Amino acid sequence: MTGDIIHRLISDRFRLPETGKIFSCPIDSIAIEPSLDGFESELLKRLRFPSSLAIICDANTRDALGARIATAVPSAKLVVIATPKADLEAVDQLADATRHQDAMVAVGSGTLNDIVKYASFRRDAPYAVFATAPSMNGYVTATASISRDGEKLSLPAAPPKGAFFDLKVLADAPFRLIQAGVGDSLCRSTAEVDWYLSHLIRGTTVLETPFAIQREEEAKLLQNLHRLKQGDLTSIKSLVKLLVLGGLGMLIAKSSQPGSQGEHLISHYIDMLCRPHPGSLHGEQVGLTTRTMARLQHFVLNREQAPVLKETTLDVVGMQRRFGTLSPAIEAEFRAKVLQGRHLCNVNERLSTDWTSIRDTLTMKALPLLPLESGLNSVGLTDDPEDLGIDIAFYRDAVVHARELRNRFTMLDIAADSGLLEPYLDQPEPH
Ligand SMILES: [Zn+2]
Repeated sequence: MTGDIIHRLISDRFRLPETGKIFSCPIDSIAIEPSLDGFESELLKRLRFPSSLAIICDANTRDALGARIATAVPSAKLVVIATPKADLEAVDQLADATRHQDAMVAVGSGTLNDIVKYASFRRDAPYAVFATAPSMNGYVTATASISRDGEKLSLPAAPPKGAFFDLKVLADAPFRLIQAGVGDSLCRSTAEVDWYLSHLIRGTTVLETPFAIQREEEAKLLQNLHRLKQGDLTSIKSLVKLLVLGGLGMLIAKSSQPGSQGEHLISHYIDMLCRPHPGSLHGEQVGLTTRTMARLQHFVLNREQAPVLKETTLDVVGMQRRFGTLSPAIEAEFRAKVLQGRHLCNVNERLSTDWTSIRDTLTMKALPLLPLESGLNSVGLTDDPEDLGIDIAFYRDAVVHARELRNRFTMLDIAADSGLLEPYLDQPEPH
């Protein structure tokens, strides 16, 4: 993958090797530049938005960038959300506040981007985003993370028409947000291993392109992680490109699968059930859970002998206790992947026959543990749940039960169904 891969991906000329079909990208423009100062109006004009725009920010992002964009586009209505919370109420309020404008411009990162993305989708009005932090890979995806009655949902939405990254602004973001972005990009490794694991063992579909487009930039970022703290623009650029490529990979796959497997399931479990929520950021949690998954994947893949799976135990009573009113839906997700009867025999046969090649294939896809861990360490991403305010016993439960949340077959399932998971977690220093 050479040349400016992002430019090629949005050009509507990129042919997917897997299908031979052109990738039709819903995003018209992505700009990643040392500075976009003075170009804001031009970038928006190129999107051919309707003339009446709303610029949406919060108090922090107004100071960081929003006020500058409002000055550049004086005809736009500036909407400042006092305390952004990504829930349906905030989405409705924003849709109402912008009802006289025909297009929206988000100035912000995770929460603010989710609110604007979903409000614009609901209103069928196009939107663009000026990022203020390289904190997550959701800038260019087709989903919005929105809470309903306290439950965090990943709702279908439309990606932005334009996504703009002013690297000087991003380098000035609180470092915690930059750390979070590293967590949400290096999970590529554990997600790829899990997705291919499901493919190799259960025959589910997988795509190579979402990962292939990230390889070059990921290698660059790993070499330069230690420079992020100094605000080095080349390293910030690598991080931004990797986050964008991770998001584009999900658009290519039409699914979050390339960027969300076992490590995201554990993070979702924390978001759903850790009360009070510790206040950790998505990418901080994913930095932690990526390390947990990477260690577990290496533990299983280092074994000479193939795991032998037993019939999946469905702990219905425990699921009701854990998930309350949500348990019927979660139980249905989990039931869809339980292994029994002929399916179980097939999986065990495949594991015992092909274990050497499965191990080799997956080990090649994973980042080696040492560079992954030293990379996470070098930006200060922790391997201790308690550093994020998560009780250690709760975290163990999260690792054991996260697989119940979704019909994605990951190393958590292999480890649990082969009886390896809990003894592994109970070793000294296991997670
Ligand atoms: Zn994520």
